[in-house]
Amino acid sequence: MSDPTAYSPVRAVVDLDALAANTRALAARAPSGQLMAVVKADAYGHGLVPAARAAVAGGATWLGVAQAGEALALRAAGVTAPRLLTWLHAPGVPMADLLEADVDVSVAAPWALDAVVAAARATGRTARVHLKVDTGLGRNGLTPDALAALLPAVLRAEAEGALRAVGLWSHLAAADEPGNPVTAEQLAVLRASADAAERAGARFEVRHLANSAGLLLHPATHLDLVRPGIALYGLSPAPGTVDPACEGLTPALTLEADLATVKRLPAGHGVSYGHHYVTPRDTVVGVVPLGYADGLPRHASGTAERPGGPLLVGGRRLGVAGRVCMDQVVVDLGPGATEVAGDRVELFGTGADGGPTAEDWARAAGTIGYEIVTRLGARVPRVHVGTAGVPAPAPVADADAEAAAPAVPVAAGAAR
Ligand SMILES: *Cc1c(COP(=O)(O)O)cnc(C)c1O
Repeated sequence: MSDPTAYSPVRAVVDLDALAANTRALAARAPSGQLMAVVKADAYGHGLVPAARAAVAGGATWLGVAQAGEALALRAAGVTAPRLLTWLHAPGVPMADLLEADVDVSVAAPWALDAVVAAARATGRTARVHLKVDTGLGRNGLTPDALAALLPAVLRAEAEGALRAVGLWSHLAAADEPGNPVTAEQLAVLRASADAAERAGARFEVRHLANSAGLLLHPATHLDLVRPGIALYGLSPAPGTVDPACEGLTPALTLEADLATVKRLPAGHGVSYGHHYVTPRDTVVGVVPLGYADGLPRHASGTAERPGGPLLVGGRRLGVAGRVCMDQVVVDLGPGATEVAGDRVELFGTGADGGPTAEDWARAAGTIGYEIVTRLGARVPRVHVGTAGVPAPAPVADADAEAAAPAVPVAAGAAR
């Protein structure tokens, strides 16, 4: 079957060495040295398997994903180490498959304990369970009272050999706000829950709480294991408070496109749907073949008064002119533009040389950098560069196989 992303004029170039270096820099800040690289949501759009391997090469001692399917995909791809935790389940989650694949599972509700115990009995395996406490986020997890109520059943299952309660954990609500007292309150609740459970006979291997913002802004939350996501990818968990460059972090993903068309338009010409941008003078416009179907936020559309999402063209920082369409955006290159079709446009990347970042797009669209990278569409090929975590190529059997091997890094679907 033909790959619909083949011949794409756009690409998300993911620098695996930057991702590994970010992981190393973050692990150095965790006193235990234990770091769970959070690679949910296709590694925040960076490509699940290559990103996971790069993080492991950078020293991640754990991997973390939200969904069972993500965990099973990692194991199926041959990522058999290190420890791997998955935490967001609904009834029907293939618990037995997770146990067979050597995946740690979170228990955040009584039904999940029943499911784990049933899967352990069915497979003959001992499940490794992390009990999730809702320490104040008000989202997933057992409230401290619910944990206390469930604990006898957990300890019975442990005595029976069905599981080992290896972890007690929680998630922070407002770690990106340095002065918010809720972080310290959540830490206190987690500690109290751990103490109570241990008095009742639980023996946890790891207690964990810190996301990227906890890791970078609240050392007290580091405990036995930190769980950064966004910072691994070189983006800030707290724009305006944490500057990735100051933390030694580099954005790993560069989104770029080749100009599809460059042409002159007269002054007063409407541009894109609804004509929300009108050329202020005779000018040259470029068509960038990337739109909201590819993940560009339509809220980053531009007008003459307010430029849209930023783009770097020929060293100049420009903005989207008019509406972001499904497949394309237009940029006003100015009357003296010398660009031609095929020239490269950078939408966001490391921010070096005045180039825009995912954070700049987030600001243009009224959202957060997390959303900008995770919403990149399936139509955007991911091109992985660098060597961190890249398995050595299999030996080539004969000349024909060599001729058939791709000359460039394999993009998109295949790599993911
Ligand atoms: C997504 C997630 C993280 C990582 O959060 P960042 O803010 O990206 O560092 C950590 N823990 C849990 C439970 C998560 O869902």
